Amino acid sequence: MAGEPQADCLFCKIVSGEVPATVVRATDTTVAFRDINPQAPTHVLVIPKAHYPDAASLAAAEPRITADVLREAGAVAADEKIDETGYRVVFNTGSGAGQTVFHAHAHVLGGRGLNWPPG
Ligand code: 5GP
Ligand code: ZN
Repeated sequence: MAGEPQADCLFCKIVSGEVPATVVRATDTTVAFRDINPQAPTHVLVIPKAHYPDAASLAAAEPRITADVLREAGAVAADEKIDETGYRVVFNTGSGAGQTVFHAHAHVLGGRGLNWPPG
């Protein structure tokens, strides 16, 4: 069923606690944890607890949870004090855009200069 945990999904295993992660925030619907291979001084992933393969499918099925993810991305930025210097929220979608984990996640990146357009 849509949104149900997937046995072969790394981020579902982080939600369940089967795979450890450095969790910085959690709500009823979301978890935020540090990326294992950070690309900036702050690099946190915000995920819905429910399994959807990407941001668009999450938004189509669960608009309120999508809003929770975006609100939590902002809260992470405030916690990390990158909200005033600026930060980026990225949803890589599809392998051609660099998506490697097919459980929707927002990258929250900041703490250094961020070029535009991104590579
Ligand atoms: P994507 O490439 O799909 O947009 O992002 C997946 C992210 O998950 C990558 O930035 C990668 O470093 C991170 N990642 C992969 N495996 C793990 C893990 O086991 N723990 C954590 N905390 N991050 C992971
Ligand atoms: Zn999952």
